[in-house]
Amino acid sequence: MAFILTEEQKLIQALAREFAEKEVEPIAIKVDLDGIYPDETMKKLAQIDLTAIPYPCEYGGGGADYVSYALVIEEISKVCASTGVVLACHTLAQSPILQFGTPEQKAKFLPMLTSYNMLGGFALTEAGAGTDAGAVATTAVLDGDHYVINGTKSWITNGDRAGIVVLMARTGTGEGTKGISAFIVEKSVSPFTVGKHEDKMGVRGSHTTELIFKNCRVPKENLLGKIGEGFKVAMASLDGGRIGIAAQALGIAQACLDESIRYSKERKQFGRPLASNQAIQWMIADMAKDVMASRMLVYNAASLKDNGMPFSMEAAVAKLFCSETAMKHSIKAIQIHGGYGYVRGSKVERLLRDAKITEIYEGTSEVQRMVISANLLR
Ligand SMILES: Cc1cc2nc3c(=O)[nH]c(=O)nc-3n(C[C@H](O)[C@H](O)[C@H](O)COP(=O)(O)OP(=O)(O)OC[C@H]3O[C@@H](n4cnc5c(N)ncnc54)[C@H](O)[C@@H]3O)c2cc1C
Repeated sequence: MAFILTEEQKLIQALAREFAEKEVEPIAIKVDLDGIYPDETMKKLAQIDLTAIPYPCEYGGGGADYVSYALVIEEISKVCASTGVVLACHTLAQSPILQFGTPEQKAKFLPMLTSYNMLGGFALTEAGAGTDAGAVATTAVLDGDHYVINGTKSWITNGDRAGIVVLMARTGTGEGTKGISAFIVEKSVSPFTVGKHEDKMGVRGSHTTELIFKNCRVPKENLLGKIGEGFKVAMASLDGGRIGIAAQALGIAQACLDESIRYSKERKQFGRPLASNQAIQWMIADMAKDVMASRMLVYNAASLKDNGMPFSMEAAVAKLFCSETAMKHSIKAIQIHGGYGYVRGSKVERLLRDAKITEIYEGTSEVQRMVISANLLR
């Protein structure tokens, strides 16, 4: 089965590639080494309608499909995985509002996010609720016309800059996953504070922080979906989000392949290019094989989603395979670069540090295997 992009998808891919090469790549090293949030890049992405690619035009979205979204994340992440994840999490925050929001919530909040007037965040994880996301301890208690939220969220991408956060909190209506509800928290209306900033190994231009909610009063009309259905809201959002992270890993893996081809043809040892050695050729062939398979898995999962078909298992397969491919081949890319690949500031060194996180966030590789096996063994 060949996956042939439509003319519109090819145009979006070309637009994203040109943007990535001109606007993102020149600053990618600085964004990474100095941990600079790529605000100007996000503003420019908004100007060309790439901050809300798969969402309807009526809410200010790009009106394109999920395959197009994956193509954009792939192209951006090829040059800067930090910018890739900032965009992916901003897009992730919009997804539950579109899927579960009331007409009023969609009309009010989506345009703020699609236009990048506000950055979005998705706040599920806590110190005691990582893989076991059902262990959320943050509480939301109804008090008149407001829910009063208390608790601390950990590891929230875009945390320090997010103006709108989709938050999961315990409303006490049931045990475990059944007692969790989702809320749209608008920081200017319901202030919360930013706690610890994580000093990360990779994707350093994306900011990852704690969010502290202390008697944070959220209007009751900001309940997202039904009471007690917050876990369902979170899992449905993460199914789509995983395609974005798979695309990020694909971009990283493609960059490993591109850098390895370029360097092995340039660098000479024993009077001939590295690429003339079969040992190097085989590493490059193995990389190409896994990158090609990754690409098909990402586009397949996105295409299923676009066609309204079940895609949860396929998204998990894509994320698992792409992230392991990025990890495996970023190490090989450094091997091909020898000592020059091992220094701070070399692209392949950054690719290795960025690759690792794709095996962790939006569900670790172990979680993806749980999702896949649960689908097969039920
Ligand atoms: C850079 C970064 C950005 C993030 N961004 C966000 C965000 O925007 N929003 C958000 O809500 N969260 C975010 N997270 C949190 C992320 O989703 C969690 O880190 C992840 O789900 C794993 O949780 P944990 O770190 O607590 O690990 P743990 O749950 O403690 O797991 C540790 C290890 O044990 C394994 N493990 C745990 N349980 C099992 C089991 N039952 N069987 C087999 N293995 C198991 C895990 O797979 C993992 O390898 C982010 C994390 C990072 C590092």
